[in-house]
Amino acid sequence: MKTALHHKILLSLILSFTLGLLANFETKELEAKPDWFHYLVTSCQFIGTLFLNALKMVVVPLIMTSIICGIAKIGGESNFKRLGLKTFGFYTLSGVLAVTVGLLCVNIFQPGIVDEDIRDKMLQSHQAFDTEKLNSAMDRADNGWVNLLEIFHRMIPTNLFKAGVEGQLLGLIFFSLLFGFFISRLPQKGKQNQTEFWESLNSVILSLTNFIISFAPYGIFGLVTPTLMTVGVDTLSVMGGFALTVLCGLLIHSLIILPLLLRVLGKINFINHLQAMFPALLTAFSTASSSATLPLTMKCVTQRVGVSQKVGSFTLPLGATMNMDGTALFECVVVVFLAQLFGIDMSWSVQFSVVVMALLTSVGVAGIPSASLVAIIVILQAVGFPEETIGIGVGIVYVVDRILDMARTAVNVFGDSCAAAVIGKSEGEHDYYATKV
Ligand code: ASP
Repeated sequence: MKTALHHKILLSLILSFTLGLLANFETKELEAKPDWFHYLVTSCQFIGTLFLNALKMVVVPLIMTSIICGIAKIGGESNFKRLGLKTFGFYTLSGVLAVTVGLLCVNIFQPGIVDEDIRDKMLQSHQAFDTEKLNSAMDRADNGWVNLLEIFHRMIPTNLFKAGVEGQLLGLIFFSLLFGFFISRLPQKGKQNQTEFWESLNSVILSLTNFIISFAPYGIFGLVTPTLMTVGVDTLSVMGGFALTVLCGLLIHSLIILPLLLRVLGKINFINHLQAMFPALLTAFSTASSSATLPLTMKCVTQRVGVSQKVGSFTLPLGATMNMDGTALFECVVVVFLAQLFGIDMSWSVQFSVVVMALLTSVGVAGIPSASLVAIIVILQAVGFPEETIGIGVGIVYVVDRILDMARTAVNVFGDSCAAAVIGKSEGEHDYYATKV
């Protein structure tokens, strides 16, 4: 009997958790670890990177061909505008709910109000942060509000190929939307030629994607094991309150808010949906990248959930960059947490502006690991955190970022899949969850 992909992925995750954590406890200091430890980390990283590179390799052509095909087919139809409005409506609603949950959690649990010595330990822990990474993030985030506008500038790329090379998906999405739309406006013959061309290209990319996905269990093992082997377990305990607040917010959003939206707006059973999305969620968790997970998200939503190509190829590529519930929630929690830690007073009106900025920046955050740290610096600057606290603050958060990034990316992907399912249902689609791939 053939084992289903998600079972294999689950098995590989169980193996990597066991091996990774056992190896982590071997000796305390990273430098003092035995040779086999370093060999294991290097070989796992080698396999993990191969898999991640392969996924990233197909993201640009997948996004472009899917959107162009989707829009070329529906651009001329009267329901195009409706589909667009529904998509943005759902993304805005789920985003607003996510940041509200984040804000409530951080105000209720107050993880930043801690004992003096825990606070000192936290402030010291920022030294573990890679200062080079922080400096480059600070450079990119230099101008607060100006940078927020920059996100929207990036939507219209001055050079399409440069956007492709640099993986600026927002710009590629915008171009593909317009390109597809104008295909739908061509005279019949031209439209048919163009649609056939892009559809066959899309089929090739999809087959290639499926091929890459079949290696997911090995790739995921390679990605997760070294992370767990090297993560600082003791710093986790110091950062426990903060990490738990984020995780609690993410759980509330994915186990209460999104299921409610599924039920109320789409009459969809949450458990069925969760089961269907399992392989994509595990991959999102392992890669901490919604963009790299996009191929799997599309496969699960169209083949396992049963949403049409038409809806899936429109909503999912957009969602992978623009709809990030987990990220928006995380940004809110971080900013208020740091304000509590540094004793900076945050009135409700300032918290409201944090909410708005978290929503806006989560649209522009790239679907790659740790991308929201840049957005967090932008928000901290915009709400007037003193310069010296920003570096220390981001350093503190970075200590536990990887684990939280894995969790929030899974929530980001889950949110996109819920949007696709609800919108598909509202377009009259049915027979969901019939097939198992
Ligand atoms: N890693 C997240 C994603 O790919 C983005 C972030 O919050 O850093 O969805």
